[in-house]
Amino acid sequence: MARPNEPTRPWIDTQEFTRTGGRLEGHWPIARLPRLADMLVDSTGNVDWAIQGERVRRADEGYDAGLSLAFSATVRMPCVRCLEPVEVFVEEERRYRLVVSESIAEREDAEAQDHDVLVSSAHLELVDLIEDEAIMALPLAPRHDRCQPPPGADSVTGEGIEPPPDEAGAGEAAEERPNPFAVLARLKRGGTDGGGTN
Ligand SMILES: [Zn+2]
Repeated sequence: MARPNEPTRPWIDTQEFTRTGGRLEGHWPIARLPRLADMLVDSTGNVDWAIQGERVRRADEGYDAGLSLAFSATVRMPCVRCLEPVEVFVEEERRYRLVVSESIAEREDAEAQDHDVLVSSAHLELVDLIEDEAIMALPLAPRHDRCQPPPGADSVTGEGIEPPPDEAGAGEAAEERPNPFAVLARLKRGGTDGGGTN
């Protein structure tokens, strides 16, 4: 039962969203996310996202309220080697456990490993949350798989500047784009077995 949200600044009441197993998804132009756009060559493209309320089983018999977020985007960042734009596919899945206060969040955050801790809010702005996560998901050193030689360089071969393997896919062409909603479904299946949401 998603409540009607403003289209431009969707928000959730985290307690209600979790209790009702709420779900929202959207596609935002990067141009609407100025802090993210500042990190990029330009603001073309979209952030696709989906968020789901869920219950997270505790070690004792109880449940905690939680949220699952999945998002993806193809963005263009300056290559650290040649400074030309390089297309980067960013994809992330995050789980949050909701707590009632900032002090609990700080304590729990230090211990949590498989999830983040988020303070419950009657008005959680999704734009802020997702923009923050998207910024943190950007690669630190984006670069092309194979750069054009810089102007003036001897272009005998491009092989000498091969990137080291395993650079977290930073330079990969964004051919294969996992659907964030499929990712979220997988995340939900894999994680909370016996959670009995719905
Ligand atoms: Zn490059």
